[in-house]
Amino acid sequence: MPPLKCVGTDFRLSPAQTSNNMTLKIQQIPVLQDNYIYLIHDTASTETVVVDPALAEPVLTCLNENGWQLSRILNTHHHADHTGGNLALKQTTGCQVIGSATDTARIPGIDIACGEGDNIKLGQHTIQILDCAGHTSGHIAFYIATANALFCGDTLFAMGCGRLFEGTAAQMWQALKKFTALPLQTQIYCAHEYTAANAQFALSVEPSNQDLLKTITHVEQLRAAQQATVPTTLAQELATNPFLRPNSPEIQTTLNMQGASELAIFTELRKRKNNF
Ligand code: ZN
Ligand code: FE
Repeated sequence: MPPLKCVGTDFRLSPAQTSNNMTLKIQQIPVLQDNYIYLIHDTASTETVVVDPALAEPVLTCLNENGWQLSRILNTHHHADHTGGNLALKQTTGCQVIGSATDTARIPGIDIACGEGDNIKLGQHTIQILDCAGHTSGHIAFYIATANALFCGDTLFAMGCGRLFEGTAAQMWQALKKFTALPLQTQIYCAHEYTAANAQFALSVEPSNQDLLKTITHVEQLRAAQQATVPTTLAQELATNPFLRPNSPEIQTTLNMQGASELAIFTELRKRKNNF
């Protein structure tokens, strides 16, 4: 296998963000079958963190290529495809591991336990912790307002959402509602490239959504060129992601659930997606 290269953010469903006082660089590393690891580097302080290192080796390669030093690992949840590189990275770089206080027993090498309302500093930037149980009971997300960036692990995907392994549909719905309260231009850095498969399910429940149809064409082009479709944006997801659209009349009609509650519709969508 050729060595993995880290890639910049100059394609995707949303254009790379720019801001005058933006000192953060985000590198996306595709690993395993469909996982993404994210390195976040602050050029002002020269600090670097990594979100969900499934593997250590590609992270070390990316750090070397950029001349960066790793200070922290941020884990969204305990699954091995998000924490598999923790111990090797900690040993090699001396970095600290940050994860959910609910999951101290399951996150390898955890040093700092955190939860809703906690903040982590990255230079001048603040990384806010959002609790988003559902996929797992201790799932958290990392939000950087100054970068318009949300690292949401396996909670929200482009046109999809995470499976409910440990939490309830009500918990997941609450987590998604928390995300939808963020600014529309928020870039959503999902942990998996599931977009093409998610799109087919989305189409099955809302076949005449024009934004969805346009997006699917774009996604097909990106995937044919072996490019990532992630990050996406909140605005994009509100327009195309069935799990964020329980008020869509077409979705309600497809499910034969006109007028049902948002949670009831979300629950039914999640159930159908499991068997899709
Ligand atoms: Zn997971
Ligand atoms: Fe995962």
